[in-house]
Amino acid sequence: MPITRLAPSPTGALHLGNARTFLVNWALARQQGWDVILRIEDLDGPRVKPESIQGTIDTLRWLGLDWQGREIVQSHDLEPYRDAMRSLAAKGLAYPSPVTRSQIEEVAAASSAISAPQDGSGEVAFPQSLRPAISKDSMQFDDEKVNWRVVIPHRVVPFVDQYAGPQMRAPWRSVGDFVVWTMRGQPAYQLAVVVDDARQGITHVVRGDDLLDSGARQILLYGFLQLGTPPSYFHLPLICGLDGRRLAKRHGDTKLTTYRAAGVSAERIIGLLARWSGIGDPKADPEPMTASEFAERFDIGTMDSDRVLFTMEDDQWLRASKVVG
Ligand code: GLU
Repeated sequence: MPITRLAPSPTGALHLGNARTFLVNWALARQQGWDVILRIEDLDGPRVKPESIQGTIDTLRWLGLDWQGREIVQSHDLEPYRDAMRSLAAKGLAYPSPVTRSQIEEVAAASSAISAPQDGSGEVAFPQSLRPAISKDSMQFDDEKVNWRVVIPHRVVPFVDQYAGPQMRAPWRSVGDFVVWTMRGQPAYQLAVVVDDARQGITHVVRGDDLLDSGARQILLYGFLQLGTPPSYFHLPLICGLDGRRLAKRHGDTKLTTYRAAGVSAERIIGLLARWSGIGDPKADPEPMTASEFAERFDIGTMDSDRVLFTMEDDQWLRASKVVG
């Protein structure tokens, strides 16, 4: 049974870029007959408050998206992630790593092992010299208050992204042994997402292309945990500001809640997202539409594979009240 997930991190800041990805994901599911579940990724980043979870759900509903069943909230049950950690540790594939970020940066700089920043993330690859000698031994996952890292092999991970095309990614170079369990007593994003995609039977993952390298990391974890075939991935181009960097606070407030509070309709937001997704005449004004109309007209084959630039005119068009008559 094909199934996909909407997986927002409830930071209270769903913006136009996130909205485009969710809308395309939902539209593809409608077109292809995939089931859709909603997974709230509240382990991804700083602690989130229950009201941002509800706010995220309200915003997605306001846009006109729906899904099967109730939302699944990652923090409600950490046991499946602990099981995965026990399995990695027992296989000698994970080890406790109390080293600090500054130690990592120091060692990386000394050995000139600072990786080229991946997608502007500025991530520093974990130097292999900081991997303890015991890292290959079978171990007990018995301390949740320390970071645990996964042993990343020195090899390229090839995979075919259904949108971005063939990939040859090298996690050992981009991140090295990355953290799978954090000293906050919680799984890190990469582990949580793999455990959940596997146990929820996810067959199709649609998300922003800032996560392409994560795709390779997640495929490795699928193998280590013997979770079967990873999902098909569709990594979509991001929406960027005029400086070419992905949409964020520095480009002004593009939060959906802000537009909604300013009286902008969901149809108008979707009209702009539709324009960005190749629907309608690019020379005419965008056409406001519902999520269902978007799903009827959307064609992934005609969506521009370049990053989309959000401009002041887009913002003005959203905010302009419609002249009637
Ligand atoms: N929760 C992540 C985000 O909002 C998405 C992760 C994923 O789709 O794998 O960026």
